[in-house]
Amino acid sequence: MSRLTPDDFDRLYARFNASVCQYDCGKKCAPLNNGSPVCCSTQDAVPVVHKAEFKLLRGRTDLWRRFKPYDAATRKIVDELTTSSCAIECKGAAFCERHNRTIACRAFPFFPYVTRQREIIGLSVYWIFEDRCWMMSNMRLVERAFINECLDTWDGIFAKDREEWETYVDYSATMRRVFSRFGRKIPVLDRDARLLMVDPSTGAARPGRDNAYPKYGPFKSEAAYRKAIKEAGGTVPAEGLAPV
Ligand code: SF4
Ligand code: SF4
Repeated sequence: MSRLTPDDFDRLYARFNASVCQYDCGKKCAPLNNGSPVCCSTQDAVPVVHKAEFKLLRGRTDLWRRFKPYDAATRKIVDELTTSSCAIECKGAAFCERHNRTIACRAFPFFPYVTRQREIIGLSVYWIFEDRCWMMSNMRLVERAFINECLDTWDGIFAKDREEWETYVDYSATMRRVFSRFGRKIPVLDRDARLLMVDPSTGAARPGRDNAYPKYGPFKSEAAYRKAIKEAGGTVPAEGLAPV
């Protein structure tokens, strides 16, 4: 049973404004995605919010509306929502209102990673976006303020909503299963912005070395990035893959 109210989300929004990094990461992924940042397009990512959060947003702006599924995959997203959540969509990146972004927008591409001992040790990534999200290949650039505001926000949500907590317990367990199959370690950023690498088989977390920050798909090299943009029909940013 969730005890979260619109006022709770108002307070959470006020304390979660830090940018994920110093750069406009949307400029890096948009050329691969018809010019729109991947996390701002419901063709790629559907924002899921608490119903109390949607109520708050409806009182503040006309930016958001209920999301209508358009295929089997998006129908599955809607069908699997918890009783207290709903899927919504905004008018698009050109109309973004920074102060009216959802928690999902503010936190993307990160979620609170929960160990087998049911302890949050930091932020990990929604790995299914690793082939499209530049940020996930640039975890070393994530700001400490962002990590702490993000984790504090989730602490506030979990304190009043056990269903949300169980969702992330389950999601973290799923990540361990999937990464065990991949034969890969799970990257986690702790509150001091240090990289931890979690062995998905044992659950053990160890400090990651400098060269352990993951690089995925088109973000592995300048050549891979340029090739992927060319195939997507996009325009390579003047500075290429480098953060500026
Ligand atoms: S968080 Fe990832 S998907 Fe979203 S704008 Fe930044 S690079 Fe793109
Ligand atoms: S509100 Fe802004 S950040 Fe959130 S999905 Fe829309 S355009 Fe992207």
